[in-house]
Amino acid sequence: MPFRFPLPSGERIKVRGGSILQRTPPHPGLLPDGEKERELKRHELTTMLVKLIRHTPEPEKSCAVAARLCYSNTSIGNLQRKFTRPLVQDLLKKIVRSGHLSVLEHASFTFAVEGVSRALLAQLTRHRIASFSVQSQRYVKFSDKFEFVTPPTIARKREIAEAYALAVNEAKKLYDVLLLSGIPAEDARYVIPQAAATKIILTMNARELRHFFSLRCCNRAQWEIRAMAVEMLALARRAAPLLFRSCGPSCVSGACSEDKPCGKPWKKVPL
Ligand SMILES: Cc1cc2nc3c(=O)[nH]c(=O)nc-3n(C[C@H](O)[C@H](O)[C@H](O)COP(=O)(O)OP(=O)(O)OC[C@H]3O[C@@H](n4cnc5c(N)ncnc54)[C@H](O)[C@@H]3O)c2cc1C
Repeated sequence: MPFRFPLPSGERIKVRGGSILQRTPPHPGLLPDGEKERELKRHELTTMLVKLIRHTPEPEKSCAVAARLCYSNTSIGNLQRKFTRPLVQDLLKKIVRSGHLSVLEHASFTFAVEGVSRALLAQLTRHRIASFSVQSQRYVKFSDKFEFVTPPTIARKREIAEAYALAVNEAKKLYDVLLLSGIPAEDARYVIPQAAATKIILTMNARELRHFFSLRCCNRAQWEIRAMAVEMLALARRAAPLLFRSCGPSCVSGACSEDKPCGKPWKKVPL
């Protein structure tokens, strides 16, 4: 089966079976209208989806029990008794104020994320105190469904967005050609751009989440990971307000820690 493929250089190359890869016009502006539409429709624009799928039962109480153990001579048997919400709040405040944050490691939160780019993934996995499971590009082939993320700066400019979509499409076409040529998916994926969408499940404890939010909710963080972090913070706050009330970039609870402040600080929240 011959397959058409645009080569940047305009060369013709042969692949297994003798099929010829041919150059097509490089810029969407040069494509006939119908073809341009078809090219662009090949891909779905992705939407980020963030879900909190699981967390430690009674996460606030779990941390507060650990804090109580540190600060009282109550027996283990009595430790969990008479736990009122004001007491939990009081203990957690004390913990955060004193920086005795290891206590917050007793509550874990698991998020499922999809419609985010491999560019985001590279930043996210720099956070070492987290557990990750990521959709494999070795075992999952993207022949039928290939989604990619378009940054808003690109999406806002129609001509640029079209050129971007076509460039991603070209990479996808080469990917298909490589697979059809017998190249394993683990090697064919080398041509997939950072824009490619992926799916992730990640687990962090409350201490790491607070740290993650301080770095990635900041206006200085890159837009995509910031959007994800802000969504995660909203979900975590809903599940455990006492653990995440005062979370976010440093400007939430004190001075900005960035060299070049953004000039749009978050609303201050008391600890
Ligand atoms: C705005 C922004 C710009 C960035 N730009 C770049 C860049 O240009 N280049 C680049 O390479 N990275 C960059 N990064 C990534 C950054 O350097 C960190 O790798 C990333 O934010 C993870 O932070 P972390 O190490 O504090 O977090 P985690 O890995 O989640 O660790 C949490 C905390 O645990 C402790 N910890 C973890 N591992 C160790 C260890 N081995 N030894 C001692 N303590 C440890 C530290 O206290 C650490 O803060 C950037 C990050 C941000 C937010």
